[in-house]
Amino acid sequence: MTGLLTGRRAVVTGGAQGIGLAIARRLTEHGASVLIADLDRERAAEAAAGLSGAASVGCDVTSEADVQAVADRAAEELGGLDIWVNNAGVTRDASLKKMTVDDFDLVVGVHLRGTWLGVRAAQAFMREHGGGSIVNISSMSGKIGNPGQTNYSAAKAGIIGLTKAAAKEVAHHGVRVNAVQPGLIRTPMTAAMSAEAMAATEATIPVRRAGEPDEVAGAVVFLASDLAGYVTGAVLEVGGGRGM
Ligand code: NDP
Repeated sequence: MTGLLTGRRAVVTGGAQGIGLAIARRLTEHGASVLIADLDRERAAEAAAGLSGAASVGCDVTSEADVQAVADRAAEELGGLDIWVNNAGVTRDASLKKMTVDDFDLVVGVHLRGTWLGVRAAQAFMREHGGGSIVNISSMSGKIGNPGQTNYSAAKAGIIGLTKAAAKEVAHHGVRVNAVQPGLIRTPMTAAMSAEAMAATEATIPVRRAGEPDEVAGAVVFLASDLAGYVTGAVLEVGGGRGM
């Protein structure tokens, strides 16, 4: 099935690689034009060049000015803004014994502050222009908590509270806000895991394998589209049954 998003205008943060790139690709395949906003300006430009209907912009999602500039640029260059995916992310895993305050601040900053800035900028435009769909990428780590990820789990759980609060605030303006909680997905972020650690984690997943970025992208397309027109404040798990 294609064409679910014909004529829609979308922003994907952290869209230069991994899950974000798969989301950008799927959105364009369904007819949306996409602005890829990523810290790595060059990789974002390369990613956009590989897709039809995509443009790119450099952006640090922790910067209020950068995020507003992305919203302004989407409105100008794409002619509007119907979909905003808060996907940019980083990890700085360490035990509580070893994690530094900088590790905590960086991870919470990118995920939680970055998502909040994105939600705020996107809804401000969408509520004045007929509505839209915001999708926040959380993680199963925010539901079940992972040792070594107290920073990341806190931020990803925070995204759920943010999603629900924002969904309640803006629903009557025609803006839907939902979250996706991916489980273990094969991307550059998880490539650092040893083969043993990957296999051990896969063994705990009911479907017995890691997921692919495209499998997360499918859930985002659904939430972004009119198929999910009555869905807001929802958390969609894409984890192969992990953490049920
Ligand atoms: P990747 O590391 O492959 O991609 C993340 C992208 O975000 C990179 O291009 C990165 O740029 C960019 N980014 C990082 N910091 C910023 C910033 N401050 N501003 C703008 N862009 C930034 O990660 P994944 O594709 O694996 O993850 C995508 C999302 O999915 C994240 O939110 C992650 O937490 C979440 N997730 C991933 C899972 C997995 O198993 N992979 C599981 C559950 C959730 P750069 O490389 O330059 O830093």
